Amino acid sequence: MAYFSNPFRSKNVRSIVKNSSGLNCFEFNLMSKIIAISNQKGGVGKTTTAINLSASLAVSEIQTLLVDMDPQANATSGVGVKKGTFKRSLYHSLVLQEPIGNILLNTELEWLKLAPSDRNLAGAEVELIDLEEREFCLSKLLQGQREMFDYIIIDCPPSLGLLTLNALTAADSILVPIQCEYFALEGVTELWDTLVRIRRSLNPNLSVEGFLLTMFDERTNLANQVVSDLRDFLGAQVFETIIPRNVRLAEAPSYGKPIILYDIKSRGAESYLNLAKEVIENDKKSARQRA
Ligand code: ATP
Ligand code: MG
Repeated sequence: MAYFSNPFRSKNVRSIVKNSSGLNCFEFNLMSKIIAISNQKGGVGKTTTAINLSASLAVSEIQTLLVDMDPQANATSGVGVKKGTFKRSLYHSLVLQEPIGNILLNTELEWLKLAPSDRNLAGAEVELIDLEEREFCLSKLLQGQREMFDYIIIDCPPSLGLLTLNALTAADSILVPIQCEYFALEGVTELWDTLVRIRRSLNPNLSVEGFLLTMFDERTNLANQVVSDLRDFLGAQVFETIIPRNVRLAEAPSYGKPIILYDIKSRGAESYLNLAKEVIENDKKSARQRA
């Protein structure tokens, strides 16, 4: 895909981002991290979060790779890469052993690269079954990319098939979007069981990046009640940042743009910039504790 000139320079959006979010790349010198955005539940905001967290990191000149592990390919189109404009997807790397460096695409943001998905990836669920160490294919592919990227963000499909298992095996942490609705807690219990099983068998080092409350509608008592229940139940693992229900976030993917390029002044943009800041701050805190 052709590389377009970075709109942040021309529109001065980048300085707005820095001033409003406090993100500062020059203070940033952390180890590379792989974060899987996952929840078996459908439609909770996984892809929206993967796209907009990646873009919010990239705009601060943090080298970021967005990995689209969902055959629906919504993260791919959501950053402006159209179906049929590229020849090789993650399918080719996972199943046909194409080096992952050969499939990466540029996006409209200079510091954001994409490992694209297409419908072939649905076949990978079946074709990987016969491979040895089939849950470790993505992990092996991404190891070589750690030197190139500060953050690798993986968008998972809404199921617990081999694609998601590959993502959770490759990841250092899992970020779980949870929609602020009545059955939110039920899904969380299920997810917790999954996490325990993955840690026991495939990836003992998988940590919880955090639970992210999404599509919050402050006007309803129900949403407020759900937030309070989830904070009681999950404690400090819930991000401070809450993503509001915001129509601009729902519109942006149809223009193939992350929210910061579609409407930088929207509440959706502000909230995802805050999320990026929180993720970075948490990592800095952990790095200080390790030192
Ligand atoms: P799937 O499980 O199918 O992969 P998902 O968990 O990735 O879904 P998204 O695709 O991110 O969920 O979101 C589902 C729908 O809700 C999309 O149409 C998206 O544009 C919309 N949406 C997501 N977050 C918000 C928000 N904060 N405000 C308004 N609409 C949102
Ligand atoms: Mg999705």
